[in-house]
Amino acid sequence: MDCLFCSIIKGDIPSSKVYEDDYVYAFKDINPNAKVHVLVVPKTHIDSADCIEESNIEAVSKVMLAIPKVASVCGLSDGYRVITNVGENGGQTVKHIHFHILGGEKLPVKLA
Ligand code: 5GP
Ligand code: ZN
Repeated sequence: MDCLFCSIIKGDIPSSKVYEDDYVYAFKDINPNAKVHVLVVPKTHIDSADCIEESNIEAVSKVMLAIPKVASVCGLSDGYRVITNVGENGGQTVKHIHFHILGGEKLPVKLA
């Protein structure tokens, strides 16, 4: 399967790593939308949050557990935002589930 984030996880495409464990990889977004903009992904491929199910919930849980660790590594003690875009209407452009962590400044435009 041809997946950009699987290639990044494998190291076939370079990235700026900020955190890694056995299940999770986190790296700087190439086109940041805030002073800090990091993507947190499971090392196993899941298309999107719409594909979360019992069989992959452990991988998803590992990503959730990594989020505060990534935030800490990035120095986001004043808060941050976690976003996952899903599908066409959600604006998802890379079809490997990922959680954006945005922070380092007061964030604009609250949609929810
Ligand atoms: P989405 O639009 O799917 O929610 O988020 C995909 C994110 O991946 C975008 O914010 C985009 O800037 C980022 N991105 C796309 N290609 C690359 C890449 O090659 N390297 C990195 N580090 N980020 C990428
Ligand atoms: Zn993938």
